[in-house]
Amino acid sequence: MATETATREDGTTEGSGRRRVYLDNNATTPCDPRVIEAMTPYFFEKFGNAASRNHEWGWEAEEGVEEARAQIAKAIGADSREIVFTSGATESDNLALLGTVEMYAEKGNHIITVPTEHKAVVDTAKYLESKGVEVTWLTPKPDGLIDLDELRAAVRDDTVLISIMAANNEIGVIQPLSEIAGIANEKGAVFHTDAAQAIGKIPFDVNELGVHLASISGHKVYGPKGIGALYIRRRRPRVRVAIQMHGGGHERGNRSGTLAVPLIVGFGKAVELAVLDLTNGEIDRVRALRDKLYRGLTSKLPESYVNGSMEHRLPGNLNVSFAFVEGESLLMGISDIAVSSGSACTSASLEPSYVLRALGIGDDLAHTSIRFGLGRFTTEADIDYTIDRLVDVVTRLRDLSPLWEMHQDGIDITKIEWQGH
Ligand SMILES: *Cc1c(COP(=O)(O)O)cnc(C)c1O
Repeated sequence: MATETATREDGTTEGSGRRRVYLDNNATTPCDPRVIEAMTPYFFEKFGNAASRNHEWGWEAEEGVEEARAQIAKAIGADSREIVFTSGATESDNLALLGTVEMYAEKGNHIITVPTEHKAVVDTAKYLESKGVEVTWLTPKPDGLIDLDELRAAVRDDTVLISIMAANNEIGVIQPLSEIAGIANEKGAVFHTDAAQAIGKIPFDVNELGVHLASISGHKVYGPKGIGALYIRRRRPRVRVAIQMHGGGHERGNRSGTLAVPLIVGFGKAVELAVLDLTNGEIDRVRALRDKLYRGLTSKLPESYVNGSMEHRLPGNLNVSFAFVEGESLLMGISDIAVSSGSACTSASLEPSYVLRALGIGDDLAHTSIRFGLGRFTTEADIDYTIDRLVDVVTRLRDLSPLWEMHQDGIDITKIEWQGH
């Protein structure tokens, strides 16, 4: 077993001969030390309220906020006035959906989304449905991509909103955003995209893509938790959302609440750094490691299945189901590697991943699925170690499995008539 005695700065490995590997970067990322450095002065020296207009403390804070706003706007090709700070992508999604439906109620009462969206969109759409809004749920194709013909056919005169994410948090699948935007623009519907997983991973320019609303989050891009933004297009066309947070009229009236200055400053720095990854070789490094992981696992472990399109996929994401193992034992066997699982036992709900289910993947394979999320602090040694551990644990579990033995003997277990069932 690989050992590591040095404690790494980002805490992904520890000393005392035990190695641990963090591969859950789709769930959250560590704060980049450069981000922390940018934030630090705003907790004490520059602690002012950005809304204080009559003294230097306020001006300093406001300056930090406006610099961050400009950094984020530049990173996505927007104007600073189009960036509204929120507490995270969850709030941005809520503001986008609730705010659009309310603002355009006179035009219609119909929205379109997909069951594979993040819960922040799915549950908000379900809430709207419970309040009488008509929701069309598109059927994703088995590879996770939406069917553009189905979308085109679903848009109606009374459709006010299409909400489809840029890249999926579980399977990393990237949706055809410009094509979706084209359909929305043609039909006069607002197009919202949850881009929390996309920033710094794929090119994302609001004008090149033609999106109207976009949700982003700090902690998915090596920034702090508890901060995010909603991009709201101001021209061609001008899009408006009804206020969901009433109060002091901050953020041009779009979202009241004292601005979280240190978090915003860190978020701005994080986004600025994240988009550099696209051109400085970092994303290629991550993709190469992901491909190594993919090849290592699928070549050494038969009956392993990739979930979601491999072609239209985030560079750092891999989601694989290992047939003939028990999901919980698999996770326990690799507890030194931080991953997510499509299995019920990792979440509060009893169903396996609703995303995998929406792709038509059976519960058995969903239960043994593992999401690997590679990131800026993932090393080649992490990947080598992960391949070795997975191969070892999956092989060991299969050696104990009567189903695997039958499969090896050429028995099709789907055709067995079990006794006593
Ligand atoms: C993480 C995530 C969210 C939620 O973001 P928070 O900032 O944690 O509220 C929403 N959508 C997607 C796609 C995400 O990955």
